[in-house]
Amino acid sequence: MGHFFVTTPIFYVNDVPHIGHAYTTVTADALARWHRLAGDEVFFLTGTDEYGLKIQRAAEDNGRTPQEHADITSARFRETWDLLQITNDDYIRTTEERHRLTVQKLLQRVYDNGFIYSDTYEGPYCVPCEAYYTEAELNDGLCPIHDRPVEEMKEANYFFKLSEFEQPLIDWYEANPEAVGPDVRRNEALGIITQGLRDISITRSSLDWGVPVPWDDDHVFYVWYDALINYATAAGFGSDDDRFAEWWPHVHHLLAKDILRFHCVYWPAMLMAAGLEPPKALSVHGYLQVGGAKMSKTTANQIFPAELVDEFGVDGFRYHFLRDNSFGPDGDFSHEGMLERFNADLANNFGNLVSRVTTVVDKKCDGIGPAPRPDSPLASVAAEVVRDSAAAWEAISPSRALEHTWRLLRETNAFLEANVPWKADPGPEVDAVLGDALEVVRLACILASPAIPNATQAAWERIGLSGQVTDQRIADDAVWGLYPAGLTVAKGDPLFPRLK
Ligand SMILES: [Zn+2]
Repeated sequence: MGHFFVTTPIFYVNDVPHIGHAYTTVTADALARWHRLAGDEVFFLTGTDEYGLKIQRAAEDNGRTPQEHADITSARFRETWDLLQITNDDYIRTTEERHRLTVQKLLQRVYDNGFIYSDTYEGPYCVPCEAYYTEAELNDGLCPIHDRPVEEMKEANYFFKLSEFEQPLIDWYEANPEAVGPDVRRNEALGIITQGLRDISITRSSLDWGVPVPWDDDHVFYVWYDALINYATAAGFGSDDDRFAEWWPHVHHLLAKDILRFHCVYWPAMLMAAGLEPPKALSVHGYLQVGGAKMSKTTANQIFPAELVDEFGVDGFRYHFLRDNSFGPDGDFSHEGMLERFNADLANNFGNLVSRVTTVVDKKCDGIGPAPRPDSPLASVAAEVVRDSAAAWEAISPSRALEHTWRLLRETNAFLEANVPWKADPGPEVDAVLGDALEVVRLACILASPAIPNATQAAWERIGLSGQVTDQRIADDAVWGLYPAGLTVAKGDPLFPRLK
């Protein structure tokens, strides 16, 4: 039994949660659910980033205090995660007292270690990014992320000696080839480092909506640096040393590529400067685009989870984003693609198998489930599928994991079509085929539960099993032959009615 600590980025409260945020969060949730099935101790963290100039200005525009504004907007994220049945163990808000304490302790350590100094900063600043850029990083004077004008800013700042971590970071990347993935993102991060790192400004004196710098009251920490530290706050840094020692550095950060520089360059360096270990794993995914374009407020092409949940259900939503977007490259959302996937995998493969098996057991076995055969032709397929699915989940590849799991469903549907139990007379041969198929349904419920928790629980109950599918354990329960004979099997409405 191991420890699995998984995080999403904390989302900026000024955003309205859209399918891009949901993609990362559903992925983290499925991984957390998988690791619980694997028997690991799991800590799944998400939350909201609530400081910075953008929040202060948005609050002023709305006639609220920044805290009131953050309270209202942070709630939208929680509601969305409740809707999508996200099983996070903690939800951190950077405006919490526990976070202020950790940020101050951690950065005081960096200061005491001699990696922070005072200087004046002047340069182009993008407010939506909350980041300074160099002239060279701008595209025709515009922010490279937002494609919009930047503001010239000048202020007295404290600087972090990032330049001193160029070589330590290169050494860390070389010693830990698996730490940042996939390779294309690892190379991108390494490229930023090898091109040369300049010291970075980590405080602001022109606003007060932030965590106060403990050694200088006139400054607050720059929103980015306090935000990154949320992961250490939740793990107990500065408040619970035993807890921190238990969970750190065994953390898997999931993030989108636009925040790669902060997570894969600045964050490991800050940790080193505080005398702490860098994170064990950083998994970077691409943008979830819509019709080939990045989602943004300005182009009004954002898609909100509730709209899709109305049409496809929670399971349909979760399954699509896990299955159709391999973790790494840019993904492109299309409504037709989602519909096709729903009908092919959920209505046909999963739904149809459950419906066929329960209907034929009802008809040919008086609704009492027969036992599977130890030497069923499906037994070896099932063993391979369990092994391959597990390896893919471990490798943070939900898409491949589900592809493997669905292989078992497809082969079982083909097995039923070859044996046509619905046409045969009741007897031992029909019992054997249906016992095997019931066992596949049981195994598929376990394997698919991280993606489609509701349909798998419903199917679990229809084949007569009691308890929660989420309480099963891969090593003990995802083993061929455990479906017991004699349970009452119930027919029911289609789990995933076909959509048009
Ligand atoms: Zn920007």
